Parts: sequence; structure tokens; C-alpha cells
Amino acid sequence: MLLRTLTSEINILKLEEDINNQVQSELDRSQREIYIREQISTLQKELNDGKPVDPAWQELSERIEKTPLSPEAKEAATKELDHLAGISSLSPESSMIESYIEWLLDLPWTTETTDNLDINHAQQVLDQNHYGLKKAKDRILEYLAVRSLKPKVSRQPILCFVGPPGTGKTSLGKSIAEALERNFVRVSLGGVHDEAEIRGHRRTYLGALPGRILQTMRKAKTINPVFMLDEIDKLNADFQGDPSAALLEVLDPEQNYTFSDHYLEVPYDLSKVLFITTANTVASIPPALLDRMEVIEFPGYIEEEKIAIANQFLIPKQLLENGLDEEAIHFTPEALHLIIEGYTYEAGVRNLEREIGTVLRKIARLKSEGKPLPKEILPEQISDFLGPQEFYPTVAEQADEIGMATAIAWTENGGEIMPIEVLVIDGKGNLQITGQIGDIMQESAQAALSYLKSKAKIFQIPEGFFEDVDLHIHVPEGAIAKDGPSAGITIATALTSAVLGVPVKHDVAMTGEITLRGRVLPVGGIREKVLAAHRAGIKTVLLPRKNEKDLAEIPPTVLKELNLVPVDHMDQVLAQALADQPINKQTKPPSGKAKRKSAPSVEEAPE
Ligand code: ADP
Repeated sequence: MLLRTLTSEINILKLEEDINNQVQSELDRSQREIYIREQISTLQKELNDGKPVDPAWQELSERIEKTPLSPEAKEAATKELDHLAGISSLSPESSMIESYIEWLLDLPWTTETTDNLDINHAQQVLDQNHYGLKKAKDRILEYLAVRSLKPKVSRQPILCFVGPPGTGKTSLGKSIAEALERNFVRVSLGGVHDEAEIRGHRRTYLGALPGRILQTMRKAKTINPVFMLDEIDKLNADFQGDPSAALLEVLDPEQNYTFSDHYLEVPYDLSKVLFITTANTVASIPPALLDRMEVIEFPGYIEEEKIAIANQFLIPKQLLENGLDEEAIHFTPEALHLIIEGYTYEAGVRNLEREIGTVLRKIARLKSEGKPLPKEILPEQISDFLGPQEFYPTVAEQADEIGMATAIAWTENGGEIMPIEVLVIDGKGNLQITGQIGDIMQESAQAALSYLKSKAKIFQIPEGFFEDVDLHIHVPEGAIAKDGPSAGITIATALTSAVLGVPVKHDVAMTGEITLRGRVLPVGGIREKVLAAHRAGIKTVLLPRKNEKDLAEIPPTVLKELNLVPVDHMDQVLAQALADQPINKQTKPPSGKAKRKSAPSVEEAPE
């Protein structure tokens, strides 16, 4: 037994010894390797005036010599290069330093393009690529004029193009770069919520990189590109810091010649960049940023403009893209009208361009199959190409109704008419509002109701009437969130109509904020709203008198066909909108409380 135990113990000890020997020899080998490598590199450094002979190091060193850097950048690069020489190329730190030096070398520091300040040339380029957009084009031409008179002017204007999607903001930015003969770069700020995305992470972070501004400058290759910052209205601040604070520094001419990125740590000059920002609405741009920018509005297009843009720009572009540029294919105006109305729902022309592209792709297929091609696209053929009609525009109601008035709303897609329904039902004096209504719109409904209550005597509404009924206000298309004060007078009109049992004219639409005393206050988005009313077949539009100035932006063809009535007070609104005047009602007293309670409802016919 003793012998067996001893033999087993001896075996275990032998095995342990074997393993120890193996580990020791592994360690020895790698230590030897490191030791020899270090010796080689030290010997090489000795031969080479103390500098490493590593080819990667040599290359970086040569590039630092050759690249035109700013003095600070050169100093930083040289310092890091010296640091690199002192550490082993095997250490992880060395690759971090290398990539930092690469970043310094890849950024443009002094390279710049020479601006073409010829105004005629610029005008030609801008007109060649875009229809209309006069305000934006003029602003650029003015900038060129000033530059050519005062070449040393250093401040670049910071423009902010505001308008619905597809109205040509980005593509005009590209044309501006083309006109000036500058490089063009863009970066989207949509969803950026961290300051580090703009300004980079400090180098102590693993995998740190410069922020988006400098990453984009690297792509620009020059220090004076046209730099587009898209979706500046979609920035949001959270616990990781406010990106708009960093953007303030980017866009401020007083500071941006020494923009500091956390990663780079060397001041970078952004003062020669021509920044253009884009947004769908100014409402959500942080005020401090908005303050620094010159807002140029890109309003939506009316149908005539869309047809002109399609004929002059979109169709030729799509013909070329689909290899049909040699075919004389023509869209009739009726066919374009059908595409615009039935297949797109937008203030811009992006979907219109896509639908035209779809039609032409199908024709390209016919061509490659050797089939005969249509020379002219007629409205009858559109459903063959694009399938059944997708949109049916909201049109004005067909008949006057009680408790229903038409508002015009402004959305990011442009204007739209929006019916507002009110129902009076037995109840306990509650006001209910449905249809995904925001707080401001709820308040505006409360104000409208209070206004109506204050007028109860004049309208001869029986005393106690409001205590015995519930009022339900509904704004259809409940899936879409709605907000804003501009439906105030419409809600008041629908309420008055429902309570008095007087129908509202179906071809009247309106917009305006209401005060408790029935005054009508101005609202925004007049051009889009009036165009939407016109599209929907409305005849009369009531709008706040203070908004009369905005009518200058509306195309004359539309103004001719619409009856636009400026109003100051709810009395005027009711006088215009109700089919039967409540004032007449005064001579014809309402027929008792019991009857009143059931009579005025949306479903029922007027008295
Ligand atoms: P945005 O940046 O405003 O969303 P884009 O610049 O991407 O819109 O425009 C979408 C498309 O519509 C582009 O192909 C553009 O060329 C075209 N487009 C828009 N407005 C015009 C216009 N006024 N003239 C010619 N093309 C236009």
C-alpha cells in the first residue's frame, strides 16, 4: 500500500515539474524576444541619431514635414511623434498616438479653393438648377456682390433654410457651392443629443474620435467649403450635455476661428467655412442658435410651380438617370396634375420626382424589351404605371352643416384643411375634446367656449343651458397629433353653430387665435394655409387682419380665385361664416330649453 501511494505522489510531482518547466521556458522565450527587439531598436536609434527606424514612424515624420499644418497643429504633431519614439511599437498606446497624428495630418489646415465671385456666373448656375427660390438666390448674389467689393471681408453669413421637406434646400446648397466653386459637404444633426458628437471625445476614452464637425472637415479637404448642417431643428439636449452649446461655438464668427475639439485639443479655424443650416420649422430651433442665423424661408410650392419644376428639372433629370434622354417623352399637364394630387402628399417635390422616376423606369423596361414607347404620358395611363390612386385630397364639405366649421392648419408637409365638429348632448356641463389635441389647442377651445358663454345673452341662449349639456369637440383624423392656437376662431364658430343650431357655410375656411373677448390674433403659416384652402376648393378664407401683410407671398392666380376676408373680431367671423345670422335669431327667440337640448347636433338638419 505504501509503495502504491508513493508511486502516485511521485507521478504527480513529476507532472507538476514538467508543467513548471514548460511555463518557464515559454516566459524565457518571450522575454528574450522583447529584450532582443528592444536591443535592436536601441542600436538602430543609436545609428540613426536617436530616432526609431520603424518605417511607419519614418513615414509619419516625413508627412509632418510636408503637410501644411497650422503652427499649433505642427507643434502638437511633433510632440506626439517624439513621444511615439520613446515607447515600444508593441504597446497599445503607440497605435493611439499614431491615429491622433494621422488625424492632424488628414485635416485641411491651410488648403483653400479660390471663390468665383462672378455674379453673372453664379446667377446662371443657380437658375440652371432651380426654379423660383428667389429670396435664397438673391441672398447669395448679394453675398457675392459684397465679397467682390470688399474682398477682405472675413465674416461669413450663416444662413438657415427653413421649409418643408423636398423644397430644394439641400440641392440649392449644392448649387451655391458649385456657383462659388467651393467644395460641398453636409452632415445631419437629426437625433444628435450628445455634445461629444459635435465636439468629439477626449483622448483618454478608448476608441475616441473627433466630433462630426471635424470629421466632415476632413472630408471637405479645404478650409472653406460650403458646409450644410441638416435638421438643426431636430437636435435635442439630455443628460449627456447640450449639443446646441457646442454648435453655438461652431456658428459664432467671434469664436469659430479657434474651434476646439476635445479629441484634437488644437484650435481649428472654421471662420472661412460658409455654413448653411436647414430646418423644417423654426419653432424647435434653440433660440440662441436661431439668433445667430439668417432665416430664409423655403415655402411649399403650388401646383403650377410643381408642374413647372417637373417639366424643367425633374423630368429631364429622371430621363437622363433612366437612360431615356434620347427619347422625346412628354408628360401632359393633366397627367402631372393627377400624379401631384393622387400620388403625392407634400409641400415639396421629392415624391413627385420619385413617382416620375417610377413611370420612366417602367418605360425604360419597355424600351429594353424592344416594345413601342409612349411619346406622351396621358392621365389614363398613370394608374397602369403607378397603381391605384393613393391619396384623395380632403375637399371642402358639400353642404352647410350645424356644428361643423373648417379650420386650416399648417403641418410640416404644408397646409391642410381640417374640419372641426361639435356635438351638444345631454349632460352636466362638461367640455370634451378629442382627436389627439395638444395642450395649446385645448386651452384655445376653453377660451372659445368662455367667449360663447359670455355672449349667451346676446345670442339668447337660455340661462342654465350650459349646465345641462355636455359639449364634445372633435377634430377628425385622430391618428395625427394637432396643436397650436390657430384653430381658436374655428372652434368658436363650430361651438356657436352647434349651440344656436345655425349651419356654417361649407365653403368658408378660417384661421386665427381667439381671445376671451373675441378678438382675433395673428397666426403663422399663412401662405401654406391659403394655398391649402385653395387646393381644397374653399371659396372664402377668413384670416386675422394683422396677417394681411403675409398675402404678398401668395401667387396672384390664387388670390384672384379666393375671397380673402381679414377679420379683427369674432362678430365678423360669425357674420361671414354662419349661413344664417344669429342676430336674426334674436328676433326669433329659441323655442324653449327642452327643445334646445336635443335640436342642435351635427347629425340633425338645421331648424
Ligand atoms: P430638401 O433638402 O428641402 O428636403 P432637396 O433639396 O433634397 O429637398 O430636394 C428634393 C428634390 O427636389 C431634389 O432633387 C431637387 O433638385 C428638387 N427640387 C426641389 N425644389 C426645386 C426647384 N425649385 N427647382 C428644381 N428642383 C427642385
